[in-house]
Amino acid sequence: MKRALITGVTGQDGAYLAALLLEKGYEVHGLVRRSSSADVIDAKLRWLKIQNDVRFIDGNLLDLSSLIRTMRDVQPDEVYNLGAQSFVKSSWTQPLLTGQVTGLGAANVLEAVRLDAPQARFYQASSSEMYGLIQEPVQSETTPFYPRSPYAVAKVFAHYMTVNYRESFGLHASNGILFNHESPVRGIEFVTRKVTDGVARIKLGQQKELRLGNIDAKRDWGHSKDFVRAMWLMLQQDVADDYVIATGRTTTVRDMCRIAFDHVGLNIDEHLVIDPALFRPAEVDVLLGNPAKAHARFGWKADISLEAMIHEMVEADLKRVKQQIG
Ligand code: NDP
Ligand code: GDP
Repeated sequence: MKRALITGVTGQDGAYLAALLLEKGYEVHGLVRRSSSADVIDAKLRWLKIQNDVRFIDGNLLDLSSLIRTMRDVQPDEVYNLGAQSFVKSSWTQPLLTGQVTGLGAANVLEAVRLDAPQARFYQASSSEMYGLIQEPVQSETTPFYPRSPYAVAKVFAHYMTVNYRESFGLHASNGILFNHESPVRGIEFVTRKVTDGVARIKLGQQKELRLGNIDAKRDWGHSKDFVRAMWLMLQQDVADDYVIATGRTTTVRDMCRIAFDHVGLNIDEHLVIDPALFRPAEVDVLLGNPAKAHARFGWKADISLEAMIHEMVEADLKRVKQQIG
């Protein structure tokens, strides 16, 4: 039986990846940081009904000793570093924490792997945000990075540390440069989930308007379920490498929103309000990825369309809101 260690197991991708690995017969260990709200921290795992199947380990990306101990105890075959301060907007209000967790945290995990589990295969959750002010209309593995937020700067550091540990120490370490991906357990602060939750609340009479910032921004949105499959596939390759994972289609926030409103028969123009306070200090206007390398090497492509995903998310939020209001 293979053993996997996931940092960020309580997050969206951690939950979907844990489900995938359990399905494949892995023993799944998840690093969990101590919280005073321990009763709600496994909400995403519970949504996928796997909260009792993951073995939790107390640790923190900021605490190298906890990571070293974890590597010693678990002796994982595969390590997926998904833990991060992952919300771009918060990275301007907490730039140093973001650098420590999202950037140095990855270096801590790499160091722990190098010291105590050098045989393990390592996955780093790199991000399309690294392309920021895009240098090519379609971004691939060879497109130069131009980060536009403290989050993206931290991810660039983590990305190159992963490349460096591969080249310096021969670790089987790969970067997945993932474009935005969502699901019913996406954090409520991200725009897709904010929209699907808002649409559900408006439909059920709990609120009247949905306030958004820059709705002209364009993203290449896929489904977390498809994207975690790519993470696993990367670690099954003989040679470690870096891969863009994207759908190859880009859509404005406005059009993504329209899909959600249309699904419940509401008119977007009657509810959408633009709030200047929600604009960002620097914006990533458009992202569009080319996943050709991942397709050529291991046959990966996104199966779930944006429409199908937004519909699934709206339905999930309708269910949640109905439960809340009894
Ligand atoms: P989430 O924000 O849902 O999950 C982040 C996870 O990191 C949570 O489990 C969180 O724990 C954990 N975490 C935060 N700080 C620490 C810490 N100090 N020590 C240990 N764990 C910590 O992110 P996603 O699941 O959406 O994304 C997974 C990874 O992929 C992240 O690194 C993200 O930056 C990256 N990524 C995501 C994309 C996307 O569109 N979703 C696109 C590209 C990259 P807690 O539950 O306690 O908060
Ligand atoms: P990001 O691409 O990782 O920053 O993911 P988000 O889902 O947070 O944001 C995607 C895009 O939606 C960005 O260009 C945001 O500026 C834009 N956006 C517009 N309004 C909002 C909003 O109210 N919340 C969020 N999170 N993003 C918004």
